[in-house]
Amino acid sequence: MEPDDTKLQFDDDGNLRHLLSLRDFDATLLTRLMDEAEAYLTAPGALPARNHSLAGRTVGNLFFEPSTRTRASFDLAGRRLGADVLNLDVNTSSRKKGESILDTIYTLEAMQVDIMVVRDASDGVPAYIARHVKDHVSVLNAGESDVSHPTQGLLDLLTMRQHNPDFGNLAVAIVGDIQHSRVAMSASEALRAMGVGELRLISPPALIPDASRFPGAVIVDNLADGLRDADVVMALRIQRERIGNLDGIPGIDEYFANYGISHESMKLAKPDAIVMHPGPMNRGIEIEGTLADGPRSVIAKQVTNGVAIRMAVLSRIGKMMSAQ
Ligand code: ASP
Repeated sequence: MEPDDTKLQFDDDGNLRHLLSLRDFDATLLTRLMDEAEAYLTAPGALPARNHSLAGRTVGNLFFEPSTRTRASFDLAGRRLGADVLNLDVNTSSRKKGESILDTIYTLEAMQVDIMVVRDASDGVPAYIARHVKDHVSVLNAGESDVSHPTQGLLDLLTMRQHNPDFGNLAVAIVGDIQHSRVAMSASEALRAMGVGELRLISPPALIPDASRFPGAVIVDNLADGLRDADVVMALRIQRERIGNLDGIPGIDEYFANYGISHESMKLAKPDAIVMHPGPMNRGIEIEGTLADGPRSVIAKQVTNGVAIRMAVLSRIGKMMSAQ
């Protein structure tokens, strides 16, 4: 993303024009979005929160990389705010037939799609689209290569705040393929802005990221060093094709033994530490199945928070549109 694009993201009242990355978000803006998302949470079994703040608007979900949960989450968030939601089927989309991404976007603009929710495997695509859409159209990054996944970062931040709102005293450990993780990148941007006490990134030597991408984080290749007295432990999905196929990356059993988040390894963390995972999970590889299903796990909460965060973000985009 070019520096000037970030200026387009929000106004002084915290209304959003686009959501491309969390890089320039400060604690005030993040807190406001988390507070608004909290207001959308209802008790288990109760009806989900709904309003009409996006009535008449159309949200287009353009997932050029496969997704189930994020797409479903945006779909529900848009509908619960009263918007029409258009899910573009990537398998039959014109881009597969060679149409340029901008032609797809201009076609959707002509159908009066107001908000484009974009996931793409290449760097820079959401910002590129944001630079080309008309002034009244907003672009939301729903996962960009290995660089950014802002709504995931926001939902992770909210889930951690529900555990302990005192970010300055929180030690957060993220474990797995940090080098290729847009989840780790957006979480670290958000945590840095909130003044997190400690951010530890743990990965096998071959997947250690460039430290300059994660200012302030402690980067280690030893699980025990990273987990000791942590308050929050987040396991990342490891791509199966990387397991055992890259120098320095162990096979499945070895990966689980050395980097798996399990009942055993969690003994190193604080006794009340929570376990997170962005999904989809590889049980028995990066996380022990019974731990993921147990009382320390907040994985289902992350999913619930995801819809609420996306409602908060979409509603802030709606406010910017109404203000124009
Ligand atoms: N669902 C998350 C993402 O799209 C995490 C993952 O797939 O590993 O980035």
